Parts: sequence; C-alpha cells; structure tokens
Amino acid sequence: MNEADLREQIVRFGRSLFERGLTSGISGNLSARWGERYLMTPTNSCLGALEEDRLSLVDRQGRPLSGDPPTREVFLHLALYDERPSAAAVVHLHCTHAVAVSCLADVDPRDVIPPLTAYYVVRVRRLPLIPYYPPGDLALAQAVRALAADHGAMLLANHGPVVAAGSLEAAVYAIEELEETARLFLMLRKEKVRQLTAEQVEELRRRYPEA
Ligand code: ZN
Repeated sequence: MNEADLREQIVRFGRSLFERGLTSGISGNLSARWGERYLMTPTNSCLGALEEDRLSLVDRQGRPLSGDPPTREVFLHLALYDERPSAAAVVHLHCTHAVAVSCLADVDPRDVIPPLTAYYVVRVRRLPLIPYYPPGDLALAQAVRALAADHGAMLLANHGPVVAAGSLEAAVYAIEELEETARLFLMLRKEKVRQLTAEQVEELRRRYPEA
C-alpha cells in the first residue's frame, strides 16, 4: 500500500469509528507503519474530521517529520511497533464498554475478559490489564512495552483498549470485537455464564494462529 492510500485509510477508518460512536470528542488515536516511519493521528484531533495531509509523520523515536504534531500517546504506539515486528497498525480508543471494564476492580489482570465467544478468542486472544498511568506518560508506554511481545491487545486501566495488528483493517476489527465483547461481559455480569472451555480456547488458538 502506498503512502497516499494509507493516509486515505486512516481518515476513512477514523470517520467510521467516530460516526458509529466508538470514539467521541478528541479521544482515540490511530497509526500505521509506513516503512521505517509512522503515520499518526494528530494531537487534539477528532477522528471524525481527520485530514489526509495533516496526519503526523514521525520517525522510530517519535520525532515529528511532517504534518501536525502527533497524538500525545505516540510512545504507546511506538512501544507496540518496537516489540511487535509484525505490527503494521495500532488503534487506541476510549470506547465506552471497554473503558467500563477497565474500571472494574475484581477482574483477572492477566486476562480481563473471559472467553465468551470464538471470534473474541480469534481476534483478541488474551487481554492483560496495564496498571493506571496518566495518558501520554512514558511509564505507561514502558508498561505496554513489557507485555507487547506476547500481546497484541491490552486494556489500560481506567483508560481504554489498545490493539496492534498486521493491517489497519485488522486492528480496527479486533478493537471492535473487543468493545462488543466488553459489552456482552457487562450484560452477563449477573448471569450464570457458560464460557468456552480451556480446550475450546486452545483449539481456536491452534486453528487460527495469530496473524
Ligand atoms: Zn487514551
């Protein structure tokens, strides 16, 4: 994919996420790898109104090369790219149900949402909880970096989810699956639930290896 197509894709997915209420105001940020550089949504930008030629281009260290200044969560994105050579895109949202789950006290921090459906297991796999740090804090990026080799999806406590994948499309679909499963998880909190068994989860992970 060339740079112009990548810019167009970021704007299109940003608008799609915004129009469907998966992000609001100026929250959330998207990025995509372009060779050794990264296209990012600018700081204080609304995902519903991105402009292709104002997207930030940064280098591996996060230094701005062109466009508007990048999201203040730039180092969160770079931590995932550094530790996951297969990652071509990163999506971070403050989507309501996943943020609600990120505020729950009594969850398993190694895997916050139980395996409720097959598609969740295939697209999200495991979801560790990253302890709370202020947004943009370097310690938050460090905590993400420590788990990034083993996890493409993480939930930042009292903040929201972040997902890295092999394409922007795959990252968007994975974070949407995560948000929908967070919604199911909250709906079912008071119900007796039949989760997928450990054997069923293992079988899915074997059948659909991580992309
Ligand atoms: Zn955030």
